[in-house]
Amino acid sequence: MVEIKRNPTRAVRIGSITIGAGHPIAPQSMTATHTSDVAATLEQVENLRRAGAGVVRIAVDSKKDAAALPAIRAGTEANLAIDLQENYRLALEVAPHVDKLRYNPGHLYHHEPTKPWQDKVKFIADVAAANDCALRVGVNCGSVDPAKKEQFAADDSIGPMLASAQEHCDLLDSLGFTRYCVSLKDSDPRKVIEVNRRFAELRPDVPLHLGVTEAGMPPDGIIKTRIAFEQLISRGVGDTVRVSLTVPNAQKAEEIQAAEVILADIAAGRVRSVVDYGLASLNIISCPSCSRVENEAFIDLARQVKEMTSYAQQHAITIAVMGCRVNGPGETDDADLGLWCGPTHVNLKRRSAELGAFPYDEILPKLRAELDRIILERA
Ligand code: SF4
Repeated sequence: MVEIKRNPTRAVRIGSITIGAGHPIAPQSMTATHTSDVAATLEQVENLRRAGAGVVRIAVDSKKDAAALPAIRAGTEANLAIDLQENYRLALEVAPHVDKLRYNPGHLYHHEPTKPWQDKVKFIADVAAANDCALRVGVNCGSVDPAKKEQFAADDSIGPMLASAQEHCDLLDSLGFTRYCVSLKDSDPRKVIEVNRRFAELRPDVPLHLGVTEAGMPPDGIIKTRIAFEQLISRGVGDTVRVSLTVPNAQKAEEIQAAEVILADIAAGRVRSVVDYGLASLNIISCPSCSRVENEAFIDLARQVKEMTSYAQQHAITIAVMGCRVNGPGETDDADLGLWCGPTHVNLKRRSAELGAFPYDEILPKLRAELDRIILERA
């Protein structure tokens, strides 16, 4: 296991679980049923809870949806969250039946446009506090606060998201409401990485909910999300996660299963992108393997690399071992030493430079020679 140093976020309780402050990273998901269909929604909530969801979010878009919440609450012990869309006043009706409210700063402009957004946030925070609810400030690339957008260049999508999140955190703090987390989502995993890293530098105390929006169908949706999570969680960023997948209702629990696999893989160093855990020691990462693996010997090789290189433990060198030619050549570019496995040969690289392809039974001494060379150069 890799010892990941988590950001020192504050603890935020959501019903029976707590996120932040070193608590386990909680996977969560969202129902896709019509909320007013209590039986179908309850069935999905329970499926997700049984699959391991720490929190289950329910869409509430109307008073009819809100009216279904008491019956849903009565039928499950899942920790429930709801999204407040434009009608922030719905908070009053839903909060008594859930554990967390999510609002989107970009949506607070539509209703009662002359009322300052600060008053609306205060209303939501007061309702949350009175009903033992946590909050999520959910900033989304597709619906950023228009006032913030105006302050940044048209091609800067990160700046307005960060400014909006910061502004809402500052306001909530000044109101004395600190039981909140933040999410900054985009459909591009690279932007998710950048915006969350930058936010975590500015506010290392605020728990982050990570996710890639509109990630799509498996496996692509899982891969996109995995890349973002690998780069963030390996550096201690992230306290709760959602893998958003386009799957039929009956398969919704796949979101939780995917999240659990990704979290376990990151903790074990089984990653698809080159990940720097920020440790001053040897960093061996290997892909989690999939149907594209070209030679089963890859699995054994990953283990042997770990054993053979243990003598270099105190050196901050990253070695990546990847299972195929589809992702191996590109994904190893960022590692100090990279191995990607073909059907009969293993390709050795030093960063993006190719050093040759060697049979499986010859690769370890070659790798060792290169590793020794790097150690000497850095001595
Ligand atoms: S590197 Fe290749 S084998 Fe490994 S997980 Fe990625 S696609 Fe699959």
